[in-house]
Amino acid sequence: MEEGGERHEVAFGNRSIEFRLKRTSRRTLAITVKPDASVVVTAPKGAAVEVVAAKVRKRALWIRRQQEYFSRFLPKLPPRRYVSGETHRYLGRQYRLKVVEGPGENARLRGKFIWVETARKGESGQVRRLVEAWYVLHARERFTRSLGECLARFHGRVCTPQLRLRRMPKRWGSWTQRGVIYLNPELVLAPASCIDYVVTHELCHLVHAPHGQAFYGLLRRVMPDWEERKDRLERAAAETGSEATACGAGEAGLLGN
Ligand SMILES: [Zn+2]
Repeated sequence: MEEGGERHEVAFGNRSIEFRLKRTSRRTLAITVKPDASVVVTAPKGAAVEVVAAKVRKRALWIRRQQEYFSRFLPKLPPRRYVSGETHRYLGRQYRLKVVEGPGENARLRGKFIWVETARKGESGQVRRLVEAWYVLHARERFTRSLGECLARFHGRVCTPQLRLRRMPKRWGSWTQRGVIYLNPELVLAPASCIDYVVTHELCHLVHAPHGQAFYGLLRRVMPDWEERKDRLERAAAETGSEATACGAGEAGLLGN
């Protein structure tokens, strides 16, 4: 991946775009997004870095779109096999799966391990069921706690919604006008700060339904660093191969995201 060139970055919104700057004898500047989502800028030998950075900033949206396009083809995690030694995430941290033989039929957190005890050690289907049940249980606990903490930021502007878990391939969260918030149990793999972001996003919808100025104004007031959290969530999701977004475009019908 390392191909030389000076490393630089420019701010874009609350994010930054990193790029490698290569000097060539060519007279014009060119920006390329590689399939590994890295950005290479080739520029004339004498071009000032500020001038190059300004060009990159000007094309930032295009760069982001290219990166998003290529990221779809980046390798995802291999499918889970539910055997000892495999790495699983919980609240943004990595844990090793440890499967031991015993009468317990349960899974629990033990140090750096997700410790599974089962009499059917060799059956990956059983291990998987125990691990998934553990995740759902902890997702429910964790989300309930997050909801309580995030609600406090609204100082009574939102009534306590009902919280339900729902598997959604493309969404972290949804809401209904009747005051129900749905959260994707997979969100419990992400850092706690990201869970709070999704919960807060959905709570804002209970005050301002559409993603308009009022919505984002409220989101910024109750969670000034929401964009950093969103970025963190996107990075965490890319690592676990999830395609969910906190806030997809084109919400329609009964459920918004
Ligand atoms: Zn939304």
